[in-house]
Amino acid sequence: MNQGKINVQVENIFPLIKKFLYSDHDIFLRELVSNATDATTKLKHLVRLGQSQTELGEPIIDIKINETTKTIHIIDQGLGMSYEEVEKYINQVAFSGAEEFLNQYKEKVDNAGIIGHFGLGFYSAFMVSDKVEIFTQSHDDSQDSVHWSCEGQPEYTMTKIDKRPRGTEIVLHINEESQEFLQESKIKSLLEKYNKFMPIPIRFGTKKISEKDPSDETKTIEKEVDNFINNPNPAWTKAPSELKDEDYKSFYRELYPFEFKEPLFHIHLNVDYPFNLTGILYFPSLKGEYQMPKDKIQLYQNQVYVTDSVEDIVPEFLTMLRGVIDSPDIPLNVSRSYLQQDGNVKKIATYITKKVGEKLQDIFKNQRKELESKWEDIKIIIEYGMLTDTKFNEKALDFYLFQTTEGESMTMSELRDKTAPIQTDKDGKLVLLYCKDKTEQHAKIAQAKALGYCVLEMNNHLSAHLMQKLESEQEKIVFKRVDADTLDKLIEKDEKIEAVLSEAQINTLKEIFEKVIEDKSYQVEYKSLPPNSEPMSVTIPEFFRRMQEMQMMQNIGGASMPQMYQLVVNTNHSLYDKILKADESLQKEMIQRGFDLARLSIGALKGEELTAFINKGFDSI
Ligand code: ADP
Ligand code: MG
Repeated sequence: MNQGKINVQVENIFPLIKKFLYSDHDIFLRELVSNATDATTKLKHLVRLGQSQTELGEPIIDIKINETTKTIHIIDQGLGMSYEEVEKYINQVAFSGAEEFLNQYKEKVDNAGIIGHFGLGFYSAFMVSDKVEIFTQSHDDSQDSVHWSCEGQPEYTMTKIDKRPRGTEIVLHINEESQEFLQESKIKSLLEKYNKFMPIPIRFGTKKISEKDPSDETKTIEKEVDNFINNPNPAWTKAPSELKDEDYKSFYRELYPFEFKEPLFHIHLNVDYPFNLTGILYFPSLKGEYQMPKDKIQLYQNQVYVTDSVEDIVPEFLTMLRGVIDSPDIPLNVSRSYLQQDGNVKKIATYITKKVGEKLQDIFKNQRKELESKWEDIKIIIEYGMLTDTKFNEKALDFYLFQTTEGESMTMSELRDKTAPIQTDKDGKLVLLYCKDKTEQHAKIAQAKALGYCVLEMNNHLSAHLMQKLESEQEKIVFKRVDADTLDKLIEKDEKIEAVLSEAQINTLKEIFEKVIEDKSYQVEYKSLPPNSEPMSVTIPEFFRRMQEMQMMQNIGGASMPQMYQLVVNTNHSLYDKILKADESLQKEMIQRGFDLARLSIGALKGEELTAFINKGFDSI
């Protein structure tokens, strides 16, 4: 027997482990199962290379709980350790990990929250144990079996023991505060979280299944079978050519058992230079979801679950995707602040963005109908990407699909081709008309359509920002909402229209209007428009409305801007001829009715005024 003292510098490690890792005690199991997995994978390599004479068999990892002795056992059939190896890897190496933690802890003491993801590897066992034991037998049969034991002080004991089967058993004597880990359901949920896709089969007790009774087919019998927790060959580790569409969908269900909607598209990631990365990303169906889902992508390192908050690894707009990213180049045990600075992580982000852009380009080219049918579901992700990621934006312009009120989908260049001949104004700017709501803005849309104009639907909370961006990037285009002005003003052509009324007559009209329209939020404009356009029309100036929408979205503090309207009076309309000939009270009444109608058509007539208008209408039946 040998007794020793672990490196003095880390003498303080045990209280620290217990104190500061309190919130993340769970990870001990992940660490120990990872070690068992590593030991098994390494052995497989050695056997393949002919460097081990052992009979490999089909190694698995066993997790057992013993309620009587209050112990958890993690047992592998991996390469095991010789006496010297325990000395080296456990007493020296494993502790150097712990020491590193200690140093980091000293430096970052103010940086609350960083401890969470600091891995202690093997020594995280002490977060939940009073005592930890190792029983191990090296794959090299000439080596003795070894027992190592440590009671949470720097002192440990080490002895050679009777021969055991190959592999390592870690025994955790669970401490008073951590008794919850002796519950089967607790361990099961941890294994399902961290170890669901680990490459070596993990057995955790048994489970009951129902089977047909072989002696009497009409009966079923209950049978106990080994309970394997994990799928050692998840879809992302396979080549895309091995997988069918259905395989991707069933893997999605495996990842998100509680999600009932099918994913819309998937992207299989596979790169080995300049870094290693595999994974499958899914575009989820976001229809009807107002909350953008986040943290749904799971990050793995060699099939070991690391985290599902990936916002430092993928660009923000892609956090709306789901799926799995697996990279050995992402450190398993790191703090968040470290991740952000990591060069590999930055490259990974760029790569993923590029892949997503390329995939969408590909779908656009080869399955445009498919893209069109799912557009409403995914466009928010794409718009968000265009607004926040320059590289993605460049690609996205090829496949971004504008929707018209007629139900057509058009890319920017298709839209240009279609609208340029009639929607270019006198300054050579292409005016793209849009609406927010087809029903509410029906009157204005109908007028635009009558002139052969195309009206787009830009209906979500990113629209205003997106249009602003496109206007600044695209040559000579401008977006205008159909109700932002009268159509001839929205798309101003060179034609000059003669005034029908004399200046004196117009002044008389102005006087009457001033008496009737007292509401200060209306600014009245008098224009000579074609006699067949409406006599009065209410508009909301584009600039003003857009500012208001952007302000609403960014939720800038302070009072929101008051509503502002413009009332355009088409003095060329024959109505004014009638009004000028009528007596004063009728004049006022006529203007009031026209004003009410103009407001009604855009939904701006409300409350008391609406009631009065309707009552008057009934009276005149
Ligand atoms: P890491 O896994 O990052 O190397 P750990 O502290 O988890 O650090 O483990 C330290 C070392 O102890 C491992 O590198 C390995 O050599 C050895 N070890 C731990 N667990 C096992 C095991 N189950 N079988 C064989 N060796 C192990
Ligand atoms: Mg480890």
